[in-house]
Amino acid sequence: MLRTSAWAGALALALFSSIPASAQEYDLVLRGGRVMDPESGLDAVMNVGIRDGRIAAIAADPLTGAEVVDVSGLVVAPGFVDLHAHGQDPFSRDLQVRDGVTTALELEGGVYPVGEWYAEREGQWRINFGATVSHGGIRRTVFGDDARGAVYQEATPEQVARMRELVAEGLAQGAIGVGMGIQYTPGASREEIFRVFQTAGAFGVTTFVHIRYMGRTEPESSISAVQEMIADAAGANTSVHIVHIGSSGLTQIPVLLDMITAAREQGVDVTTEVYPYTAASTSIESAIFDLGWRARTGGDYHDIEWVATGERLDSVSFMEKREEKGIIIAHIIPEDGMEAALAHPAVLVASDGVGFVNGRAHPRGAGTFARVLGRYARDGGTLSLMDALRKMTLMPARRLETAMPDMRRKGRVAVGADADLTLFDPTTVIDRATFAEPAQPSAGIPHVIVGGEFVVRDGELVEGVMPGKAVRRRPVS
Ligand SMILES: [Zn+2]
Repeated sequence: MLRTSAWAGALALALFSSIPASAQEYDLVLRGGRVMDPESGLDAVMNVGIRDGRIAAIAADPLTGAEVVDVSGLVVAPGFVDLHAHGQDPFSRDLQVRDGVTTALELEGGVYPVGEWYAEREGQWRINFGATVSHGGIRRTVFGDDARGAVYQEATPEQVARMRELVAEGLAQGAIGVGMGIQYTPGASREEIFRVFQTAGAFGVTTFVHIRYMGRTEPESSISAVQEMIADAAGANTSVHIVHIGSSGLTQIPVLLDMITAAREQGVDVTTEVYPYTAASTSIESAIFDLGWRARTGGDYHDIEWVATGERLDSVSFMEKREEKGIIIAHIIPEDGMEAALAHPAVLVASDGVGFVNGRAHPRGAGTFARVLGRYARDGGTLSLMDALRKMTLMPARRLETAMPDMRRKGRVAVGADADLTLFDPTTVIDRATFAEPAQPSAGIPHVIVGGEFVVRDGELVEGVMPGKAVRRRPVS
């Protein structure tokens, strides 16, 4: 089943008529790998021919090319698309690359200003990059010097109108959608959020949200926060992606999954994601840890780990660290809820990887994808290998492709798709990053290819190769 276009073959013959056509057929051939494509269901040993950065052939018959690499024993999967990657610095990014990520997007927090962020990476990034326009960043801009107001104060109607203008401006500069962390800006009223959803709806983009509440204390529960999202998406005729259902849902994860499933069945475009750990991570000074956090989350001081040293906190050191400010890890996510989310067909996988500082951070930024494949799909049987791949390739691509048709070429191993490919050994793939030693690259992922170029080869980063491209909306005319 050689699938290639006739005209392309004819062109190759015409251009290279003096050279045996077979030697020039593809730039790169991956020979004898187990090709797994979640869209078509293909799971078979095949040869993959790559030309001009795209997949040009998938064939059982031998293929010839300028370079042929034997990949027998390895799965040839679509490159992993991470919708939730805060670690947009070279060190953090490269740990993600070793975890099989070929597209890492900052969609929850977003960025502001948008144009500058893209310009900084253009032509010098190892993997594909992109971001939403940040509601939080815009809020800070609108509140000017009033940093506390930007977090805790309700906006005036004029300020909300200005925010909507700036959201529109960011989208016009190519932002993928709108990112917001409502729990980090408790001053943002329900009206403000609904109005911003309306702007996203007018542009046909998705809003990616860290929801208003986490925990079980009514009326400020995870349930009420998800209800706000479903109501706003339905009311504003737009779509919403709820980030990290594990850390935002805690003990309420099962009912949230039921609510999201039911809303989807009624036609509301709501999706969600999970990372495969039982600990969350954020800044200790954030509004999440304002008074009452223990009752809300069910967590206690000793569940909180100070990232810089790994020490667990108590009531005294908690107050000291909150004064000092910094990143913590909170061991508060129920394992059964997290696994239920991981197994749920509507939930995709995203890392929420936070940038590493002096080699330290939550390990999810280095190990999320290999951990799902090795620990949960292979060893735990929580989900099948194909379902695991679907959650880290096809589902995130589909989340974005309504607004950005270019994403139809990602998340697939198919003729015409971008040659972003992750090759791993299904018998050995595993995360190595731990809470004690987080900056450990994953194992069992020998090759990672972006746009037809190796960025990881034989388990090592390839220096000086920067094929990453911007994932961005095309400007509206
Ligand atoms: Zn978050």
